[in-house]
Amino acid sequence: MIRVRFAPSPTGLIHLGNARTALFNWLFARHNEGVFILRIEDTDVTRSDPYYTELIMEDLRWLGTDWQEGPDVGGPYGPYVQSQRLAIYKGFAEKLLKEGKAYPCYCTQSELEERRKAALARGRPPRYDNRCRNLSESEKKSFEAHGRTPSLRFKIPGGKLAFEDIIRSKCEFNLDVLGDFVIMKAEGTPSFHLAVVVDDALMKITHVIRGEDHLSNTPLHLLLFEALGYPGPHYAHLPMIAGEEGDPLSKRAGAFSIQDYRRLGYLPEALVNYMLLLGWSPRQRKEKITLEEAVEKFSINNISRSPAHFDRKKLDWLAEKYLREADPERLTELIIPFLPQEAKEIEKTKIKALAEAVKPGLANLSQVAKEAEWFLREPIFDDSKLAALSGEKAQAVILETLEGMERLGDGFINEYNKNINNVAEKTGLALKEVMMLLRQALTGSTHGPELAAVISLLGPDECKRRLKRVIAQVGAAQQK
Ligand code: GLU
Repeated sequence: MIRVRFAPSPTGLIHLGNARTALFNWLFARHNEGVFILRIEDTDVTRSDPYYTELIMEDLRWLGTDWQEGPDVGGPYGPYVQSQRLAIYKGFAEKLLKEGKAYPCYCTQSELEERRKAALARGRPPRYDNRCRNLSESEKKSFEAHGRTPSLRFKIPGGKLAFEDIIRSKCEFNLDVLGDFVIMKAEGTPSFHLAVVVDDALMKITHVIRGEDHLSNTPLHLLLFEALGYPGPHYAHLPMIAGEEGDPLSKRAGAFSIQDYRRLGYLPEALVNYMLLLGWSPRQRKEKITLEEAVEKFSINNISRSPAHFDRKKLDWLAEKYLREADPERLTELIIPFLPQEAKEIEKTKIKALAEAVKPGLANLSQVAKEAEWFLREPIFDDSKLAALSGEKAQAVILETLEGMERLGDGFINEYNKNINNVAEKTGLALKEVMMLLRQALTGSTHGPELAAVISLLGPDECKRRLKRVIAQVGAAQQK
């Protein structure tokens, strides 16, 4: 049975990189009918906050993933929050100490820092020099008499360690260049390395799929597995996601947290599809792929080992397609929180029609809401906009349309083509110009959905009100 986990540290929001790791783990589990586990790695008490745990879970659910074992759902190998497992790590650390595989280190943080700086200044690698490895009993007692509480360090055996990474193939490390590493901190909490390995062992994780930033930790983890007497899992290190110019992914480059994308109103399926393409693609080079299709086709062997490049334009291109195809009823519910307060009064059928009219070409719901503003708020005309509407042609178009609308009411909309042509004929202007002037008068903008949709959405009464308002404002401006 395949068992994988996503193990975020609740020290901040998840961004595209972590979310992709979660997604690939989930897909791998689903494809192989295995188990996907959520584990919260909060042993760094000063930086962890349960607030983030909640948001991370919310984001993962929003993306469409679920977990069979985790902090909220429990499971046979719980608890799934590391801060609730401290006694377990302590037991394993003591075992390693008793077996002579670990030893107490009395160096203080400031001593370590000083030595680190000195080593760097001499052009040496800043690793721990293993000085506490062979302390005599009396040396240890003397440190303790001076009130020093030791951390525990794992004895790195030296030599070489090689393993087969599913994505990166053979990886080899020279252990001779590594300093003994901490497994238990002086304050009694486990290091990241110990906690991860103990949990992966006890939770029977078969495959560790994680970011490439953890690759250099893997030899340490494999050494710990062996020392603890557990078989190591298979590893797959996902390539990093780089910005468009190969720089590290950053907010400036438009790569936000999942919360940011939610706030902007991207549809989850669009973001998921985009993340799928970051490093993995189904064989037939298809761009648009749903989560269900991905479950069916996902293979860890198809993950590319070169870095993926974040491309906001591509994300928006996909997002636009998803928005275009999204079910109008669903979109109506989703768009409401993005609209201004006054939209709460508007019937849903109107909102649905409005969203459908403005959404083409847009990537997210905040854009849709912004493009729908003309409907919810009457336009504000600054001097230059008012000037454009005060010319003779514009006034003729406005008056002629107003007359038609007064006379025909809804009939103006029902026979829109005929009536708008009529206005063109009567004013002697080209149809295109008529439409442009009317659009400006009704919405305050030179672009937007079809004029027919604008008029039909506003309805004859609101159109008349707006046109009369333009006439009044132009008049007032001319009086000045
Ligand atoms: N907690 C680690 C992180 O957030 C993940 C460790 C792992 O996947 O092994 O980077």
